[in-house]
Amino acid sequence: MANIVAIVGRPNVGKSTLFNRLIERRQAIMDNESGVTRDRHYGYSEWNGKSFTVIDTGGYVEGSDDIFEGAIRTQVKEALQEANVILFMVDCITGLHGLDQDFANVVREVGKPVIIVANKADNTEKSYAANEFYALGLTDSIYAVSSVSGSGTGDLLDETVSHF
Ligand code: GDP
Ligand code: MG
Repeated sequence: MANIVAIVGRPNVGKSTLFNRLIERRQAIMDNESGVTRDRHYGYSEWNGKSFTVIDTGGYVEGSDDIFEGAIRTQVKEALQEANVILFMVDCITGLHGLDQDFANVVREVGKPVIIVANKADNTEKSYAANEFYALGLTDSIYAVSSVSGSGTGDLLDETVSHF
């Protein structure tokens, strides 16, 4: 069975930055029903000898007023359906945002293993801000990372592949 990790969260939290850091190469995946190749958001990765696919989400529609409409909604739902593990990303610099709650509700409904990734924890002070996201009531632990520097991503990957 394939190991699939989906990265979801509101725009600009750093999903694509983490995706690009995690993947070794992009993966062309053929959609059986439409015959369309969906390669832009799929990547291949390995950690602790376990290989997995990473799906980035949310990149199609810029400037959309309602992020749960149209292409993004479909893309996020498809990714959540495919995933074995969900990385739910939030932003330590911005802090808790209304849209984080909306995403948390969607993720909760899926009922799959979820890991909260508190991104932009670029230094110790910012990583303290990660605690704010316990208020989402989604998980018992939160992984503070900086996708730009890579700090914290080792622990995050240890936890992620422990589900495979
Ligand atoms: P996405 O919309 O969730 O895919 O977010 P992007 O990956 O496009 O990143 C949005 C912005 O956040 C970009 O300007 C990134 O450079 C910035 N960003 C991403 N990760 C980090 C981080 O760890 N620290 C800081 N300070 N900025 C980050
Ligand atoms: Mg993106």
